[in-house]
Amino acid sequence: MTEVLDRIRGALVGLKMPRALEALDHTMQQLEKGEITGIEAIDALLAEEYATRETRRIDVALLTAKLLPAKTLESFDFSFQPSLDRERIAALAQLDFIRRAEVVHFLGPPGTGKSHLATALGVAAVKAGRQVYRATLADLIGGLAKAERQGQLAEKIRFHSRASLLIVDEIGYLPITQGGANLFFQLVNARYEKGAMILTSNRGFAEWGEVFGDPVVATALLDRLLHHAVVIQIEGASYRIRSHADLIPEHVRANAPITPPPPPKRRERPPRNGAANP
Ligand code: ADP
Ligand code: MG
Repeated sequence: MTEVLDRIRGALVGLKMPRALEALDHTMQQLEKGEITGIEAIDALLAEEYATRETRRIDVALLTAKLLPAKTLESFDFSFQPSLDRERIAALAQLDFIRRAEVVHFLGPPGTGKSHLATALGVAAVKAGRQVYRATLADLIGGLAKAERQGQLAEKIRFHSRASLLIVDEIGYLPITQGGANLFFQLVNARYEKGAMILTSNRGFAEWGEVFGDPVVATALLDRLLHHAVVIQIEGASYRIRSHADLIPEHVRANAPITPPPPPKRRERPPRNGAANP
C-alpha cells in the first residue's frame, strides 16, 4: 500500500499535478473510512487539479486578452436598460456567433454598457476556451501603425487574425487619420468571414465617413462589417452618472452621444453679430 501511494505521489509530481498531490492524503483517509468509493477518489483528485488549472488558465487568458477588469452578464442590470433585449444578449452568450465568424455591433450613447457587454461576452468566450483579444480602436490602430513603421505589419495583422474573437472598443470617440483607417481596413479584411468581432461605438454607421476621415474607406469597412452582423442598439441613460442625472441639463442628457462638446470659448473670439470687430 505505502509502495503504491509512493508511486502515485511520484507520478503526480512528474505529471506536475501539485493540487492533486496536496489532496491525496485527505482523499485516501475518506476512502479508508469508506466515505467515498475508489472511483469517487479518482474523480476528486482529478477535479481538484483541473479546477486549479482552469482558474489559472482563465486568469492568464483574461490578462493577455486585455479583458481586465472582467465583467459578467450576471452583474449587468438589464432593468436599467429596458431598450436592450435580454434574450438577444443571452443568445450571444451561447457564443455561436464566434463559430460563425459574425460581427456584433453595440451602438449607443456613453455609459450605456457597451464595453461591459462586449467584455462580458469576451470573458464567456475565454472561459469556453476561445482566444480573445480586446483593444480600443485607437490602441489597435496605434499598434498597427507602429508595426508598419518597423516593417512588421503583416505579422501584426496575422497576430490579430489568430484570436477567434477580436473586440474593438470605442469606435467614434477619437478621430482616425486616413492612414489609420487604411490599417484598420486591412485588419478587418484579413478577418472577414474568418474570425468574429465585437465592435462598440457611440456613432451611427452614417457617421463612419466622418469617424474614419474618409467616406470611401468607411464604406468598404461597413461593407465587410455589416455582411454577417448583429446590430444591438442601446438607447438609454448612462449608468455611470445614474445617481447624478438630475445635475445634468436636459439637452445634454438627450444629446450626449451625438453632439460634441461646444468648442472652448476663446477670449479673442468676436461676438456673433460682429459689432465688436476691430
Ligand atoms: P459604455 O461602454 O457604453 O460607455 P460601459 O460599459 O463602460 O459603458 O459602462 C460604464 C460603467 O457602468 C461600467 O463600469 C459598467 O460596468 C457599468 N454599467 C453600465 N451599464 C450597466 C448595467 N446596466 N448594469 C450594471 N453595470 C452597468
Ligand atoms: Mg465603452
